[in-house]
Amino acid sequence: MTCERLQAQHGFTYIFISHDMTMVRQVCSRIAVMYLGETVEVAPNERLFFDPGHPYTKALLSAAPTLEPRRYRPEDCLLDGEPPSPIDLPPGCAFASRCPHAFDRCRVENPGLRIRGGQALASCFLIPDPSLTSELPMETPDV
Ligand code: SF4
Repeated sequence: MTCERLQAQHGFTYIFISHDMTMVRQVCSRIAVMYLGETVEVAPNERLFFDPGHPYTKALLSAAPTLEPRRYRPEDCLLDGEPPSPIDLPPGCAFASRCPHAFDRCRVENPGLRIRGGQALASCFLIPDPSLTSELPMETPDV
């Protein structure tokens, strides 16, 4: 691929922006997933495609065409609800109105990016923040 050859020859870094997860998988070594202008997940290529941490990333991957067996099936990742206006975001997690795992805390507090290990980060309360020992949600949503 031309970009990879240029990168190897000249040692530069490039940013590739796309909604096409199949293309992203082919050309990107490190991936940031955005929702309504906010980064909700960052991970190396293999980690993101085989062990995503954010419900929005799982929904994106379930919708991407593939010939491989799907880890995330579309019927398991259907998104209900409407996205909020990007110019008038409500408090809390921006994905809460569509997330199948949302619980009360999601609607009042933004989880921020949390370390998942393996150079991966995701913005979701279902990922315990190791710096907060009292982090586990009071409710126990189904995942
Ligand atoms: S923080 Fe809550 S609403 Fe946001 S992605 Fe995680 S579970 Fe869903």
